[in-house]
Amino acid sequence: MQPDADLTFETWVQAFGAKAQLAGLDLGLYAQMMSGVKVQTLVLKKDRTQPEFSSRIWSYLDRALSDQRIDDGRKMLVLYQDLFAKLARDYGVGAGLIAAFWGIESAYGQVRGSLPVLDCLATLAFDGRRRAFFEAELLGALQILVAGDVSPQGLMGSWAGAMGHGQFMPSAYLAHAVDYDQDGKRDIWGDEPTDALASIAAYLQNSGWDAAVSWGCEVRLPNVFDWSLLHSDQRRPVAFWCAQRVGFVAQELPLSLNVRLHLPAGHQGPAFFLTQNFDVIKSYNASDAYALAVAHLADRLMGGGAFAQEWPRHARALTTPELACLQKNLTLRGYETKGADGKFGPNTAAAVRQYQADMGLTPDGFVTIALFESVIGG
Ligand code: CA
Repeated sequence: MQPDADLTFETWVQAFGAKAQLAGLDLGLYAQMMSGVKVQTLVLKKDRTQPEFSSRIWSYLDRALSDQRIDDGRKMLVLYQDLFAKLARDYGVGAGLIAAFWGIESAYGQVRGSLPVLDCLATLAFDGRRRAFFEAELLGALQILVAGDVSPQGLMGSWAGAMGHGQFMPSAYLAHAVDYDQDGKRDIWGDEPTDALASIAAYLQNSGWDAAVSWGCEVRLPNVFDWSLLHSDQRRPVAFWCAQRVGFVAQELPLSLNVRLHLPAGHQGPAFFLTQNFDVIKSYNASDAYALAVAHLADRLMGGGAFAQEWPRHARALTTPELACLQKNLTLRGYETKGADGKFGPNTAAAVRQYQADMGLTPDGFVTIALFESVIGG
């Protein structure tokens, strides 16, 4: 929804100039940089397109970890092996992980975005749905231009303003980008990826990446398991989980390391131990599916195998209306979902688990068509 429908783009540009000036930007420079900036209708179209229903995690992982993505990544590790070795020494972040971010964000630099970043950010800020966020990012983009790291023509990105090999938003660029080849410019946009890959490594180091441990690993649950242990953000020592008969599949972790258990597709899918490094990956993009894709691609690039446990591929995702209907019926039956918006969140997950427990089902919080039919039919 447009908060103020009679605001024109020109009026908004002028009003934002006052804010930019307050933030320390020279008004003449602002007018100069914004002079050619225009609304990109393509950007608004992209912003309005919402998926009909969220796809299952395995569909996302299939796309993110195609054979091509893995093959290309292994070639990049060879091509840039000296750079990756240097980055591992300087930032404590391994080659596989940096390459995995590179692969997922821009297909190893092949898809860096070719839209003018000022246009995209100004369009989204003017549109108003998330004005404060995009005004802050636009200010960041203007500051990047003022700093002289890139020419106005070179300030290109994807439709929502993510730029270069690592798809950094301007705020991330200002906080983390580095001039690793020491030519005086922090260049994340050009063909040559040295600064961009170092900037990804710096981002992770600054976000708390612990070089001594991995992101986690796949594990196997016993047949009899205390499911109340699953849905907690609390990390417990590996030794605790081993005492619960949770077993390693391939890679093992030290017994004293704190991990939490993660089952992204319920008890029929793969299970994982996650260290605090998994949350560092999520600081780049807060999605669990994204973080698992990056983590797993990193392992695959370093020679690791596919997950041992298959995904429950027969279990299609519920549509938004189906999920809203499930929420309504759960609430009617005393399992409070706190709203029926058709979006799966922690309240719905908790309601589903309680329902499953009361019905004698495995309380993993994973929604299937069978569960949906059980709730609305019962
Ligand atoms: Ca540089």
